[in-house]
Amino acid sequence: MGETVKRFGNLIGGASVPAASGETIEVRNPATGELAARVARSDRADVDRAVRAADRSFASWAGTSAKERALLLHRAADRVRENLEPISRLLTTEMGKPLQDSRKEVQHGAEVLDFFAEEGLRVGGEVAPVGLPQVTSLVLREPIGVCAAIAPWNYPVSLIAWKVGPALATGCTLVAKPASETPTAALEYLRCIDESGLPEGVVNAVTGPGPVVGMAMVEHPLVRKIAFTGTVSIGREIMARAAATLKRVSLELGGQSPLIVCADADFGAAVKAGVQRAFRNMGQICNAVNRIFVEAPIYADYLDAFAEESRKLTIGDGLRNPTVDLGPMLNQAGIEKAIRHIEDALGKGARLLCGGKHPEGPEYQTQLYFEPTGLADCTLEMLVMREETFGPVVGIAPFQGIEEGVRLANSTDFGLVSYAYTGSLAKARALALGIQSGTVCINNIVGSTLEAPYPGWKQSGMGLELSRHALGEYLLVKHVRIEV
Ligand code: NDP
Repeated sequence: MGETVKRFGNLIGGASVPAASGETIEVRNPATGELAARVARSDRADVDRAVRAADRSFASWAGTSAKERALLLHRAADRVRENLEPISRLLTTEMGKPLQDSRKEVQHGAEVLDFFAEEGLRVGGEVAPVGLPQVTSLVLREPIGVCAAIAPWNYPVSLIAWKVGPALATGCTLVAKPASETPTAALEYLRCIDESGLPEGVVNAVTGPGPVVGMAMVEHPLVRKIAFTGTVSIGREIMARAAATLKRVSLELGGQSPLIVCADADFGAAVKAGVQRAFRNMGQICNAVNRIFVEAPIYADYLDAFAEESRKLTIGDGLRNPTVDLGPMLNQAGIEKAIRHIEDALGKGARLLCGGKHPEGPEYQTQLYFEPTGLADCTLEMLVMREETFGPVVGIAPFQGIEEGVRLANSTDFGLVSYAYTGSLAKARALALGIQSGTVCINNIVGSTLEAPYPGWKQSGMGLELSRHALGEYLLVKHVRIEV
């Protein structure tokens, strides 16, 4: 009997096509271990085909009026919403996040298109004040050309959307590379966009191993910009290799987010915030809280409340139980890293507050489920306080006074998102100004917002995504001097 598993081709020039080699990659469901789908295992030839399709459609797309592009992007958003349920199910099946979270992510993917449709209408230029009566000096902004979007596996739809939205709104064309472990929801999302009336080749997608497919995009001479989200080491490699063709590069890389809890904070809110931001999506979020620093007078109480709140989180197969709080982790490497960070901390004197093991029960069909884990009395030498765990593990430590709080928050090489809870305006201000990261959230844990920029500082990246500022990443500046 033939295999019945669903197959997904590349999206090139408006058509779904298999890899030229005919080879495929298996996509597995982390909740059950079952084979969920096969996607194209592409190589350089497939990337070249997709880039050339994007290049062929560039001039006409760039020449389309901003209004027409906005109309098509809104139509694309509607089509994504019409397909919300099937795309969400693909997402949960390949990635493991509960269905309720997948629905939110796909919904967000549609909202991103609506947002950039509108922002694209407002791209303008300026008249430079050269002050000479015979001279008019215009500053224009034009689309950069063919862009490549390389996305990770943890938010496969959102993180493609953050690149597709501004690229298409500014008149660029795009080739996307979804992550190999979670490509199917992103492919369906892109297919919806393509089928909503866009000219062929404006949006394309190629799946396959990062070092082959991603690197072929980075090296392709017709690609003018790379938008990458992923790990720091690969971001550095991409930047170095993109230098050969002087591509513009934007990098959204890892994080190691701190949460500072001051003694005067709303205690209950600060506990809930810590638990939610440490463990949502099993900690597999670039802006997950990895370190919590609690002011000494409330430290002991915070630990007790944190452990109690963490134990309330439900874990399960998010397709069968769409409302569980947590699903499985994506893969064994993630579990191993989490365990390595726990063992390292315990070996250096930390105390296990909660979790630290696989949950037990017949419903847990794979070894990828793990209990949310809190570690108390952590020190800066421990891996959990220095490296991105990217798993359901958080280190907690006490601090004394706001200056030490700021110093501890800044004690890593990362600078993506930082969180703080305090009841004092003066402390809020000192934290917001003193913390070195692209985003600082005071008394909330909304690490990224569609309307505001999302930049990484230090080793967390360069350039930015989201907000009207993201459009600039896809535009060239041109000066036109007219003398009459
Ligand atoms: P990776 O860096 O491993 O992969 C990201 C993407 O790059 C994948 O599509 C991957 O392909 C591709 N890739 C891998 N190697 C290369 C290469 N040599 N050249 C070009 N492309 C390559 O990251 P993960 O998928 O593991 O994602 C987790 C990381 O992403 C974490 O560090 C997390 O912090 C970060 N992240 C950052 C965010 C931010 O906004 N700052 C948001 C979300 C995540 P393949 O899948 O085939 O390996």
